[in-house]
Amino acid sequence: MSDDASPTESRSLHFIEEIVEADRASGKHGGRVLTRFPPEPNGYLHIGHAKSICLNFGLAAKYGGATNLRFDDTNPVKEDVEYVDSIREDVRWLGFDWKGEHYASDYFPFLYDYAEYLIGQGKAYVCDLSEAEIREYRGNFHVPGKESPYRNRRPEENLDLFRRMRAGEFPDGSRVLRARIDMASGNMNMRDPLMYRIRRSHHHRTGDTWCIYPMYDYAHGVSDALETITHSICTLEFEDHRPLYDWFLEQDVEGRFFQRPLPRQIEFARLNLTYTVMSKRRLLLLVQEGHVKGWDDPRMPTISGLRRRGYTPESLRAFAERVGVAKRDTVIDVGLLEACIREDLEAKAPRRLAVLNPLKLVITNMAEDEAHVIEMPNHPDDPSFGTRPMVLRRELYIERDDFMEVPARKWFRLAPGAEVRLRRACLVTCREVVKDASGAVVELRCTWDPGSLGGDAPDGRKVKGTLQWIPVKEAIRAEVRLYDRLFTAEDPMDVPEGGDWRDTLNPASLQGIEAILEPALAVAEPGSRFQFERLGYFCADPDGRPGAPVFNRTVGLKDSWARLEARP
Ligand code: ATP
Ligand code: MG
Repeated sequence: MSDDASPTESRSLHFIEEIVEADRASGKHGGRVLTRFPPEPNGYLHIGHAKSICLNFGLAAKYGGATNLRFDDTNPVKEDVEYVDSIREDVRWLGFDWKGEHYASDYFPFLYDYAEYLIGQGKAYVCDLSEAEIREYRGNFHVPGKESPYRNRRPEENLDLFRRMRAGEFPDGSRVLRARIDMASGNMNMRDPLMYRIRRSHHHRTGDTWCIYPMYDYAHGVSDALETITHSICTLEFEDHRPLYDWFLEQDVEGRFFQRPLPRQIEFARLNLTYTVMSKRRLLLLVQEGHVKGWDDPRMPTISGLRRRGYTPESLRAFAERVGVAKRDTVIDVGLLEACIREDLEAKAPRRLAVLNPLKLVITNMAEDEAHVIEMPNHPDDPSFGTRPMVLRRELYIERDDFMEVPARKWFRLAPGAEVRLRRACLVTCREVVKDASGAVVELRCTWDPGSLGGDAPDGRKVKGTLQWIPVKEAIRAEVRLYDRLFTAEDPMDVPEGGDWRDTLNPASLQGIEAILEPALAVAEPGSRFQFERLGYFCADPDGRPGAPVFNRTVGLKDSWARLEARP
């Protein structure tokens, strides 16, 4: 992992680092740090997961520990190998290597054995109540729960029933295994939660071996303990589940199942971003309903979407670091994410010239066959990027927005009679505006100052405006995709009565245009990133072909975040 994303020495410890340091100081776990990242393979990872990945892997790296990748595949219905593969790719792309690769489903036999043990200890029972009855018996925050009539079955009877559940003797949904804890607990999660349900569905790894599947709360802590995880980091909505997490593990009273000390669950605030939704379930709907082209659509907040958009792993790691680790939920301005990629690419991206909306410019005092080779630096501040040749000719394209027939105040770009600089090439003055029958400007006829070759006036006269240009003869055409926010609402989930979160999908989130590029961009490896001068950062899309590249605009050049931060 590169240095730029490692925690800055200057910042103080966040609360999880404090916990880890205290544990190391006290010798708990022998100073060991083993974290895990436990995605459910039911979708592609998003930027919120990236935050969690950076936290788990970053913490382990900082304290000389390691991180396991664990697929939390206890729910056979929604899971798929495609997701497993994408998750592995995304974690690796972010720059992290895991120690163990595990699947909760590998622990099914162990989870089953431990469940039998709990039954034997009188800590779990088979319950025949229906789903609705269980809900009703559970009560609510104000009403204490009622004990199930099956709660006091003898262990031998429970064991027999549980074995027959496993053997497939009972129909789906007819019985469950429940932990026997406390139906009067103020914490609803402790009111005899479900441990197993009967569900005949094919699992992407275990096939049809099982017809009973463990519940998340049961499987999760047991998986952590089995892997000897030291710090089990999750998001805040699991805070109320922590007593249950501990309860399941603490029932191993004889220490037959788990190594001590047991793992500790620690909750932090999940990442929320403005102008997007961040749950796999909703992202899946965006894909299924065709609002986007796929999980890796550059408008998606998925890691694969951000990658295709042009984000670098370094920028996402820097973002995770800047967001920090909080104990209370917050919403982060997407402008911060954009600032992170801008900062990273400013130093890394070679410069190129491009014109999104072309206007022809003819230098009338230059001969038809005249050609001046200009060595263009690939980076203004870093000579190690080298140079590339561009040819200044009589016929060029410039950006249509760089011309105003009736110039506004303080307009330093092209206008009738005005002089501007063509980047690194020369100074030109607009002499004549050519229009078509409808009155649209189709061509600017200019003259150049031959003494200004290279870009500066021979007499030192000041010329403020500098434009990008492309010679017509060498110009290539390419599809350029410009993106706007996927939603027009800052919080798409904040919908009025009767509305739907999809109501604020931005109909103009993708604009495809045919742009004019300099010839050096004809062959751009998919994934290669450039700054198109004055226009933003762009990344070559895999849809491109040699000679017909496709570029995604990653982000514009203007830093709205710096302005926001500077606001009083
Ligand atoms: P989603 O609701 O998007 O499906 P999830 O929490 O169900 O998310 P998991 O695959 O279960 O997704 O999560 C894997 C890990 O990533 C968990 O430890 C979870 O806490 C963490 N995580 C998920 N979303 C976020 C988020 N927005 N911010 C920080 N961490 C997150
Ligand atoms: Mg989930």
